[in-house]
Amino acid sequence: MNTTTDVIVIGAGFAGLTAARELSQQGHTVKILEARDRIAGRTWVEKRMGRELELGGTWVHWAQPHIWAEMTRYGIGVVSGPEFEKAYWWAGGQRHEGPAERVLEIIDEPNKRLLEQARDLIPLPYQPLSNPAVKGVDHESVSSRIDALELDETARQLLRTFWSLNFNGKIEDAAFTQALRWCSAANGDWMLMFEICATYKVEGGTVALAEAILADTTADLQLNTAVQRVEQNDVGVTVTTADGATHSAKAAIVTLPLNALRSIEFTPALSADKQAAAAHGQAGLGAKAWIKVKGKWDRFVAFGAENWPINFVQAEYVEEDTTILVAFGPDGNAVNVEDRDAAQAVLEKLVPGIEVLEITGHSWIGDEFAKSTWPMHYTGYLSESLEEMQRSEENVFLAGSDYANGWGGFIDGAIESGLSTARKVSAKLHQEQGRL
Ligand SMILES: Cc1cc2nc3c(=O)[nH]c(=O)nc-3n(C[C@H](O)[C@H](O)[C@H](O)COP(=O)(O)OP(=O)(O)OC[C@H]3O[C@@H](n4cnc5c(N)ncnc54)[C@H](O)[C@@H]3O)c2cc1C
Repeated sequence: MNTTTDVIVIGAGFAGLTAARELSQQGHTVKILEARDRIAGRTWVEKRMGRELELGGTWVHWAQPHIWAEMTRYGIGVVSGPEFEKAYWWAGGQRHEGPAERVLEIIDEPNKRLLEQARDLIPLPYQPLSNPAVKGVDHESVSSRIDALELDETARQLLRTFWSLNFNGKIEDAAFTQALRWCSAANGDWMLMFEICATYKVEGGTVALAEAILADTTADLQLNTAVQRVEQNDVGVTVTTADGATHSAKAAIVTLPLNALRSIEFTPALSADKQAAAAHGQAGLGAKAWIKVKGKWDRFVAFGAENWPINFVQAEYVEEDTTILVAFGPDGNAVNVEDRDAAQAVLEKLVPGIEVLEITGHSWIGDEFAKSTWPMHYTGYLSESLEEMQRSEENVFLAGSDYANGWGGFIDGAIESGLSTARKVSAKLHQEQGRL
């Protein structure tokens, strides 16, 4: 047992690494306990299909201030994604194709109408509840708001697929306010929002940034150390890990994703509202996969029907004889990221003549330390749960993209939350020191 640590950070994703760096640089001793055998959590770079592929979080943008500041700090640049030439889409029970801009034209006016209130209802994206009127729409779903636009069937279907792609999940209970939050953070411009989501990648992969943050902290990192219990007591906090070891500290920062939060036993229990939010979870329950197809294809995007197991692909790497596509689907249980034939069956409906050679990925929703992909909230979360998740319980603090204000759902949100939580913890430790 180590009683000298000031802070235990549970989880070495971007929130945990950022919080650990901040606290150690402010002179606090920090221990990071990470369940996996690697850092970086829901970002993960692995060599597959002969390339370093991002199996999790990937795209970043200069309009995301926290990650951009980190990349500037460590001298890490971005790599531009492909410019798309062609699009395929499914609507009205059949396949369509055209120039890439066509698909954006179809959803442009509907998206503008859908999101027209973004800046009014969320004028300050980093204070998402600053206009109380936003609470009035927080129980509406993206699905019902799209249907209320009374679009023709092609635009309706494409827009529903587009938003199920953004949510990486089903949109029936997906919060309309989450769509407003993204759009507001992109200055009310949905095309900029789309660019932010899927255009620029971190040079050297997301792991390069995670490693740079880790190298900048004196925190003691322990991998393969799953936490089972967090108990508050006279010394502060005692954390018990799966191997039975205990670690004590003055405070703990818990960075588990909302959907995995219930895997830790808290004593005393977390507030009833926090427990309810964790039990409900979030809507990002889909799949991401990489698919290698035969031949050198034009750079294309393809939107399938909303509920297809794979409903979006884009040609990410065009090679001499093969093309590697990145693919997403709304239901992680419906996609086996190793089933080539299943991918073939979906893609051939959309893209004529396509031949799938290989498919790979990671089942994030089957991953006990994630149980979800990127955090996209259900109706009611913003108005009923977000502030509560950000409220500490004595010496236990939550941090992570699931609990962020601005670009919640992104790496940027994880860093924002890591920074602000570290500030709160440091203030508390200094306050307590002052009392001694
Ligand atoms: C498929 C996919 C695609 C995405 N695409 C993008 C994108 O393009 N751009 C973008 O910005 N974001 C994207 N994201 C989201 C982004 O990756 C996450 O929002 C961000 O990485 C979350 O960081 P975090 O620190 O909050 O949580 P996590 O990264 O989940 O970190 C939590 C850490 O806690 C650890 N942990 C869990 N349980 C325990 C335990 N019991 N004991 C100890 N440790 C534990 C986990 O192993 C993990 O390392 C994507 C995510 C996924 C999965």
